[in-house]
Amino acid sequence: EAKTGGRGTARLFEPQMDATLRERLGLERELREALAQSRFELHYQPLVDLSDNRITGMEALVRWRHPERGLVNPAVFIPLAEETGLIVPIGEWVLSQACRDAAAWPDAISVAVNVSPLQLRNRGFVQSVLGALATSGLKASRLELEITESVLLDDTEVNLETLHSLRRLGVRISMDDFGTGYSSISYLRRFPFDKIKIDRSFVPDSAGQSDAGAIIRAIVSLGASLGITTLVEGVETEPQLATIRAEGAQEVQGYLFSPPRPVHEIAVLLEAGIASGVGKAANPPEIP
Ligand code: C2E
Ligand code: MG
Ligand code: MG
Ligand code: MG
Repeated sequence: EAKTGGRGTARLFEPQMDATLRERLGLERELREALAQSRFELHYQPLVDLSDNRITGMEALVRWRHPERGLVNPAVFIPLAEETGLIVPIGEWVLSQACRDAAAWPDAISVAVNVSPLQLRNRGFVQSVLGALATSGLKASRLELEITESVLLDDTEVNLETLHSLRRLGVRISMDDFGTGYSSISYLRRFPFDKIKIDRSFVPDSAGQSDAGAIIRAIVSLGASLGITTLVEGVETEPQLATIRAEGAQEVQGYLFSPPRPVHEIAVLLEAGIASGVGKAANPPEIP
C-alpha cells in the first residue's frame, strides 16, 4: 500500500484536475461562441462630479448574456479572456459598441472604457480606437480609456508610446484601481494621466474612519499638484460620500448613485441626471 502511495496520490488528484481543465476548455469554447453570436452586452455606471452632482460620464462594464447561467459578470470571464487572448476581439467589440452608444448621449457625457494590458500592447490598438471613433462619430474628447498600473509595469516603453499617441488624438487616459498595485505613485510621474480612479478598497467603511480618509486626501492632493482629477470608486453610503467630499475628491462612482445599468435605461437616467442633478444621492434618480 505504502509503495503505491505516490501513484495513488496522483490518481486521487486526477479527477479534480480533469474537471478543472474540462471546465476551463468548456468556458473558452463558450466564450468564442459568445463572441461569434454577439452575446456580450454593455452596462453603464455613472461617474458623478461632486461640485454639482451631475453625471460627467458613464463607465462601460461588459456582461455576458449566457443562455443558462444568465448575466455573467466580467470577474468570471475576463481573466480567461486575457489568458486566451480573446480579450483582444472582446475588447474591440466593447470599444466600438461603447462609442456607438455614447454618440447618442448628450455632448457633455463621456464614456469610459476599460482596456486590458494585452489589448493596449496589441499593435493595432490605436487604429482600433481611431476606427471606433470614426464609425460612431464620437469626438475623441468624449472617450476615456481606463488602464491599470500593470500596463506601466510591463513593456513600459511600447505602452507609454501608445498612451501618448492616444492622448495626442484627444482621448483621455485614466488610471483605474489606483492603490492596488505596486509603487503606484512613481507611475504618475511617468505618464500624464487625466484621472486617477482610487480603488474602492480605500473607501472608508464608516464615517470618520480616519486612515482611509487620510489616504484619499493624500492622493487627492498629489493629483491636484499634478493637475490630475481624482475619482473615488465604490461609494455606497451617505457617510462615505460625506468623508470623500470632505477629503476633496472631485468625482465619485458607486451604488449610492447607481449600479451599472443596461444601455436602454441610460438615456432615461441621463435625462433625469441632467435635468435635476443626479442627486443628492439621498434621492438617486428612479428608473421605472
Ligand atoms: P473596474 O473597472 O474597477 O469597474 C468597477 C467595478 O466595481 C464594476 O464591477 C462595478 O460594477 C463595481 N462597482 C461599482 N460601484 C460599486 C459599489 O458601490 N460597490 C461595489 N461593491 N462595487 C461597485 P464589474 O462590472 O463586475 O467589473 C469588474 C471588473 O471587470 C472591472 O473593474 C474591470 O476591471 C473589468 N471589466 C469590466 N468590463 C470590462 C471590459 O470591457 N474590458 C476589460 N478589459 N475589463 C473589464
Ligand atoms: Mg474601470
Ligand atoms: Mg476600477
Ligand atoms: Mg476596481
